Amino acid sequence: MAELSRRQLLGASAGSLVFSLPAFANTTPNTFIAARIWPAQAYTRITLESPNKVKFKSFTLEKPHRLVVDIENVAMSDILINLGKKVQKSDPYVSNIRVGQKDSQTVRVVVDLKAPTLPQVFLLNPVANFKHRMVMDIYPAYGADDDPILALLNGKKQEQAKANDKKAPPQIAQKDDKKDDKKASEPDAIQPQKRRPIIMVDAGHGGEDPGAISPNGLKEKDVVLAIARLAKTKLEELGYIVKMTRNEDVFIPLKKRTEMAKKAQADLFISIHADSVKNNPNARGTGVYALSAKGATDEAARLLAESQNESDIIGGIEMSHNKDVNSVLVDMMQNQTINDSLRLGRLVLNQLGKFNKAKTEVIQANFVVLRTPEIPSILVETAFLSNAEDEALLRSTDFRQKVAQAIAEGVKQYLNIAVLARR
Ligand SMILES: [Zn+2]
Repeated sequence: MAELSRRQLLGASAGSLVFSLPAFANTTPNTFIAARIWPAQAYTRITLESPNKVKFKSFTLEKPHRLVVDIENVAMSDILINLGKKVQKSDPYVSNIRVGQKDSQTVRVVVDLKAPTLPQVFLLNPVANFKHRMVMDIYPAYGADDDPILALLNGKKQEQAKANDKKAPPQIAQKDDKKDDKKASEPDAIQPQKRRPIIMVDAGHGGEDPGAISPNGLKEKDVVLAIARLAKTKLEELGYIVKMTRNEDVFIPLKKRTEMAKKAQADLFISIHADSVKNNPNARGTGVYALSAKGATDEAARLLAESQNESDIIGGIEMSHNKDVNSVLVDMMQNQTINDSLRLGRLVLNQLGKFNKAKTEVIQANFVVLRTPEIPSILVETAFLSNAEDEALLRSTDFRQKVAQAIAEGVKQYLNIAVLARR
């Protein structure tokens, strides 16, 4: 009897809970357990994290501009109610977020926007420490012509490389078999075969993706951005044009980073990271990476599959319609690019080895950001965040300056005898 009455008691209390939320009588509602907003000039990201996958519908409204997202079977919670409080005044695109119960089954999130935008709403599966995420990325619709992500979204052609050509040298020889034609007719103009090299500096990670985190809480995304900014300054002092894949705390997908380098017509791509290993706090020092032949082969195959954009993929070489010929051309270009990347990597590694423990050789690996066939690319693992000695270095301005200087010096030595791509 006692057994039964206890069960009846439990049943009664559970029942009263269910009846207070009648719409969810048959399914357990999902709950958001975390909300984050990453405002940035490139785009603002709003992330809602939940234990289970959510279902949503989204659309935009004008006058005023709004993004509306209806999320099904999600319980109203403080995280949602307080979402608007997380919006920063300085957010370039979001002015406020309002959340309400649309009907008994649906929560409506309204993102008030400061300008016309191109929002993208999508789901991410659990990874690392993250559970299911619903992501709202708010891209500017116009007015940010310098933004490479926007340019990619809009399919715009960027003209900055041409504009930059008008600035002062250092001049570097460029393959150009037509230079003699131009010389006679344009005696005072900047000679077309001379131009300033363009360097794409890539600070790893950012925004939602912190990269490695040291035991003391130093985040890779912050360290590498600081070093990237210093490297930009040092490279500009040498007269090069420098672009950055990010210059703020924003997440940029790997593939986007290489696309930005292509769009900017970069001559070199330098990705900056800080390493970390589990269970080996003694591992420390600097390493430089270039693409492995395996990675190159995979990429060649992938590029060929995407041959709708043939002329973009292979700068300077016209794609044949014969797939076998294309494959040979991509391989040839990639092999040359890997050789160039290795040479650049060795020069940078030599410089880095002057003030920190460093690997003796450039390591070849299959990193996505190193796969652009026409742009020599290296990835610098500056030091280990998982090592106490290296972490102290990564915190210090002196070490960051030295790394930036080493990268700039390596690039200078490389470009002193490099032949830039003709374009
Ligand atoms: Zn990294």
